[in-house]
Amino acid sequence: MLEQISAHTQRLAEASEAVWRQFTARADECADEQSGSDPLLEQQCEVVRGLVHKYENRVLCLLTAQCASYCRFCTRRRMVSDIERGRITMEDVDRWRDYLAERPFVREVIISGGDPLAAPVELFNYAVKTLSNLCTIKIIRIGTRVVVTAPELLTDEKLNAIRDVRQPVYIGINFEHPDELTDATIEAVAKLRKAGAILYSQTVFLKDINDDYDVLYALFSRLVEIGVRPYYLYRCDPVAGVGRFRVDFRTERAIMTRLRKNLSGLACPTYVIDTPHGSGKIPVPLGFWDVDDSKFRDFQGEEHEVI
Ligand code: SF4
Repeated sequence: MLEQISAHTQRLAEASEAVWRQFTARADECADEQSGSDPLLEQQCEVVRGLVHKYENRVLCLLTAQCASYCRFCTRRRMVSDIERGRITMEDVDRWRDYLAERPFVREVIISGGDPLAAPVELFNYAVKTLSNLCTIKIIRIGTRVVVTAPELLTDEKLNAIRDVRQPVYIGINFEHPDELTDATIEAVAKLRKAGAILYSQTVFLKDINDDYDVLYALFSRLVEIGVRPYYLYRCDPVAGVGRFRVDFRTERAIMTRLRKNLSGLACPTYVIDTPHGSGKIPVPLGFWDVDDSKFRDFQGEEHEVI
């Protein structure tokens, strides 16, 4: 994965060590002992170029491999930044439409990448319009981080495309640390809300970045205040190259238990493990329950050790 960041992220990283750590490559990434480049089995479930169909009622559309800045802990580091290989054309989007038109049981599309809001505006607008024109699609979701990494990419053209969608548009934004909540980011959030989007956050537990009660308390409290509902807090996936970011599981669970005690319910995300083999996001029981926290079962009933 390329080490490349936007000018906005560069300024942010100079001011915040927590941001700097997220985007700075380390020589030992390649020697990481954690194995597997695709723990969620997305490649295996790619039914049309760029379209992943894993759960019956929803699909994932990987619109681009491009991001404004490349997070070193990215679950999709196997493909992000390889822009040529991940290039999606309008013809590919037409193939997505044709696939979905034959499958009315698919109700929801998640447009992701890379970062779909870092894709060329014509492609982004075409994909949003084409997919939302399908009458069987009831929900459009967009996963992005440009609000944090390059808010200037949220142009009026893209905002208009979002505003024109007839379905509810849910936008999931990755936030990892309160230092990311700059004036420009807060303004971008306000623009998305004004365009009618419903905003939620996704956060990954990251060692020496946000594995701290006070940091996460500040992040989630602030997100609710600016109109972003904290949604998921993930245990970092065991992807090759990200081992240095993984936090001790019991430390995560203790932090999350304390957060649940003190945050309002609205500000408290669900803490989940994204299961190996792509078989579900499993909520972790917090310290209010006496449970064996060394293993869990996935959506298929298969048992896993916590790693
Ligand atoms: S913006 Fe998203 S897709 Fe891009 S590198 Fe960061 S986490 Fe991965």
